[in-house]
Amino acid sequence: MRPIDGQSRLPHWFKVRMPGGPGSIRLGNLLRNSELHTVCEEAHCPNIGDCWERGTATFMILGDICTRACRYCAVTSGKPLGLDLDEPQRLARTVERIGLRYCVITSVNRDDLPDGGAFIFAQCILKIRERLPECKIEVLIPDFQEHGLRLVLRARPDVLNHNIETVRRIFHGIRPKGDYDYSLKLLQRVKEMNPAMVTKSGIMVGLSESWDEILETLADLRAVGCDLLTIGQYLRPSQNHVAIHRFYTPQEFSELREEGLRLGFRHVAAGPLVRSSYHADEQHSAASQILAYG
Ligand code: SF4
Repeated sequence: MRPIDGQSRLPHWFKVRMPGGPGSIRLGNLLRNSELHTVCEEAHCPNIGDCWERGTATFMILGDICTRACRYCAVTSGKPLGLDLDEPQRLARTVERIGLRYCVITSVNRDDLPDGGAFIFAQCILKIRERLPECKIEVLIPDFQEHGLRLVLRARPDVLNHNIETVRRIFHGIRPKGDYDYSLKLLQRVKEMNPAMVTKSGIMVGLSESWDEILETLADLRAVGCDLLTIGQYLRPSQNHVAIHRFYTPQEFSELREEGLRLGFRHVAAGPLVRSSYHADEQHSAASQILAYG
């Protein structure tokens, strides 16, 4: 099949809410004055109008320059500019000001730091907890080594998310500096270190993977005890990124959701516009009920 070039021919089921509602403007203003980055903006997320109107955003810590250059990602890659030790405090202040009940924190990759930035992640969790103890915190972490993973887990996030992003066969071409098996191992180690920790992962589809390969990846994630799953359509951020191979229909997404549930995930969010942090609060609360009542 020939790759689809660009996004001028998005299928009709891609309907996004345009930013500009009152909630979205308020949040935008608060964020603009916060000296923080959001993945919503940096990754050109199509859900920004919807999420910001709902008062939710995903913060991107450790700067806005990534040491990797994954072929699907819009975040700028290059040499990061030092470490901002005040960032956790600033983030906590902003989360309190917005009054978030559910906060998602992710970061660029910081392969230049010995702990990959895990210390700052842990500080962000602790500082938010000091100011807003009732706020649930989900961290979407890079592939930290053991030491970094321990640091983050000790700070007790509510959800530990690490995206595998794609299937084994094409993984290396999409994430040249990542490792499929290491990502699985990381999720497994989380459960070994803290069996009660809710784990989450996500994949993008439309990158030339086959249906069977997706199911294989879902099974691999379940084999390491992953609880929550997101599946969304890959959209090409620019002509310099890997092309879209095909669009999955809403029907196919609902079949993938069923497959995920059949494999034992506690919750599966699957849809063309689903992203790792899309409606993460709803996914967490649905999963918490299942975990609480069996
Ligand atoms: S899906 Fe996540 S990254 Fe996209 S706008 Fe919503 S919160 Fe931000």
